[in-house]
Amino acid sequence: MRLSPFSDPRQRQKVFPRRVQKYQYSTPKISRRRKRSRELDTQAMATVKIDGPSTEETSRLFEHIADSHCHPQEDPDGLAHIERLSSKYLAVMGLREDDWPRVAELQAAYPHKVIPCFGVHPWFAHLHGFRNDGFVRDVLEIKADLELQNVGDVADVSLSISWEATLRKLLEAYPSSIVGEIGIDKAAVVLGTNNKARTRLSHQLELTERQLSLAAEYNRPASLHCVRAYGHLQDLFRKSDPCTLPPRIMLHSFGGNPEVVKGFTRMPRVGGRFYFSFSNEINCKTPAKTLERIRQVPDDRVLLESDTCSATTIDSGLLESCKIIAEAKGWTLQQCCEITFQNFRDFYVDSLPKI
Ligand SMILES: [Zn+2]
Repeated sequence: MRLSPFSDPRQRQKVFPRRVQKYQYSTPKISRRRKRSRELDTQAMATVKIDGPSTEETSRLFEHIADSHCHPQEDPDGLAHIERLSSKYLAVMGLREDDWPRVAELQAAYPHKVIPCFGVHPWFAHLHGFRNDGFVRDVLEIKADLELQNVGDVADVSLSISWEATLRKLLEAYPSSIVGEIGIDKAAVVLGTNNKARTRLSHQLELTERQLSLAAEYNRPASLHCVRAYGHLQDLFRKSDPCTLPPRIMLHSFGGNPEVVKGFTRMPRVGGRFYFSFSNEINCKTPAKTLERIRQVPDDRVLLESDTCSATTIDSGLLESCKIIAEAKGWTLQQCCEITFQNFRDFYVDSLPKI
């Protein structure tokens, strides 16, 4: 029997057994060498610490703070907090087809604060396909020593092919919306496979390419996630006709090497479209490298984000991210807020007048 992961509650339970986990994601094992490098990074973090601003100063700062990338819909209990947030705007990123209605609901509830963003996150790429007869197992890359039947029930779920038409409708219905969160992740393990399978890179790339092209068609920016795959992402951009790429492209929680920044910004024909966003949530895991990579980013391309999964931690997350960027760039907190806020306005220029 074929079931859609989105229509049958029992099947859905297998696909998303625990809500509000950090995307139900498994991180790969960390080698001793990488562990040591993280310890060194933590020591370097001491240079990032800045005394917290006073309440008066904080409210002045928040006149110029907006969140370029967050997921408050993941914590339903925290949603009421959105009303009390000091951050001026929130770009709320959708994760998968059945998550998009939650993003739309938030936009309806807070029309002057929420920018709706619709996309398929790479951690859910395995649920979205292109053919009528596709199953999750068709897009999985399974460890060589394992049989398909040991991978878990998720393998027998049929792929959604309605996502593309739905995304198109949403982009039409919400003129302030952008495409996100999309991208590629070579480290993520698929939920429901007992950590035994990843989504094929080719499938993730095709999904990303389709969504970028939809964004271009509707002249919307896109917010991208990329883990251990910056080379593949750059290849995709290099081979694409610029007409099929979005007008502005955010690399969120950017974790590439400093030289990778130049690889994007100096890319022929499309280098001027890239923005780099930094979050306390992700980027603080490697603070020394983060400072170095932020310094490589042109001042007018740096964005501030929380990437948190609860409205309750958005303001604090943004302030912490702001401290890191200010430290890297040698800016005061006030300068950092003003510059990144202007960059936010440039990136979301077509979304702001409508919210
Ligand atoms: Zn995200």
